[in-house]
Amino acid sequence: MKIPFNKPYLTGEETKYIQEAVASGKISGDGIFTKKCHDFFQKRYGFKKALLTTSCTDALEMAAILGNISPGDEVIAPSYTFVSTVNAFVLRGAKIIFCDSEVDHPNIDANKIEALITEKTRAIIPVHYAGFACDMHKIMQLAEKYNLLVIEDAAQAIDSYYTYPSGETMPLGSIGTFSAFSFHETKNIISGEGGMIIVNDERFAGRAEIIREKGTNRSAFFRGEVDKYGWVDIGSSFLPSDIISAFLYAQLENLERIQDRRRILWQHYHNQLIPLEKAGLLELPKIPTYATNNAHMFYIILNSLETRSGLIEHLRKHDVLAVFHYLSLHKSEFYSGFGESHSELPNSDRFTDCLLRMPLYYSLESGSVEYICDLITTYLKSRES
Ligand SMILES: *Cc1c(COP(=O)(O)O)cnc(C)c1O
Repeated sequence: MKIPFNKPYLTGEETKYIQEAVASGKISGDGIFTKKCHDFFQKRYGFKKALLTTSCTDALEMAAILGNISPGDEVIAPSYTFVSTVNAFVLRGAKIIFCDSEVDHPNIDANKIEALITEKTRAIIPVHYAGFACDMHKIMQLAEKYNLLVIEDAAQAIDSYYTYPSGETMPLGSIGTFSAFSFHETKNIISGEGGMIIVNDERFAGRAEIIREKGTNRSAFFRGEVDKYGWVDIGSSFLPSDIISAFLYAQLENLERIQDRRRILWQHYHNQLIPLEKAGLLELPKIPTYATNNAHMFYIILNSLETRSGLIEHLRKHDVLAVFHYLSLHKSEFYSGFGESHSELPNSDRFTDCLLRMPLYYSLESGSVEYICDLITTYLKSRES
């Protein structure tokens, strides 16, 4: 029995909705299912304006255009993240200033951001790693103090929340100026490839529609607000076909069920690995008190790169595919020309070397989680003696 790292979950309604989209006669962007998805997100999470895109990468690129990020600007982002988080800004000519992660969590260390701010800084890009909220109160305070944009990379953060010190709870993606979600097949809610930009500052809403539609005011035209449409701004084709949206809508209708199952599996891993953490053989995810757990990912942190490599190999021999994650971007030879770090980023480097992600998907069986935890236990105990 092979246990893959990920298995896309299908609710069974996807092909039915795709057929409906096809039968509707409009399969380009912004058809009936795209509108249903927009409504879903705006109602459930109170997002001001939700616009589906072809990927989270595209949503981030849209955000960089909307924010008028220009050559010479500086953007602060964690080094421990996916390339798209920063690529979107590099494409606009910005320089990335890499910030370290927190000691016990891959998220950007909000206490280290202020020292990186210069008169060229335009934006902060918090990435909610594993769906756990960054310290948004501190980040938003800095943004206000220095008049910066905040663009949440919420690729992994669907259905997760942040609680302010005042007690107010906000869905991730609703806090920054813009935010970007992913529906890639490795995420909780999927459409193969897919994404969404959230525009929380209504002043940008009209321009967002234009940039997403090749720099034209076609969306306003379809609503009857202008009598012809033309070229009014820069832009690209960021909107998905309604076929993709139909797939996504089937997933959204089942969001509660998908999330419940993932949370059960996550907790199952967690409970069984507590003894290993107590024995000092690994670290379990630390969820900040202001964050919720959307069970996007179950990861463990090993004591060394060598232990991690050995464990990956041990699991692989038993047909379990566990995978490490990001290589610190400030160490990338390619990115060194586009970004810089003002110091060593030891926490980012530690997660690069020691973090290991376990299989987590809807159809994973509880028995498989137990099997995997037994393998981890056997391996780590054998190395101890
Ligand atoms: C998955 C992911 C992305 C990219 O999403 P796509 O939809 O594949 O473009 C960006 N940032 C983070 C943190 C991600 O996990």
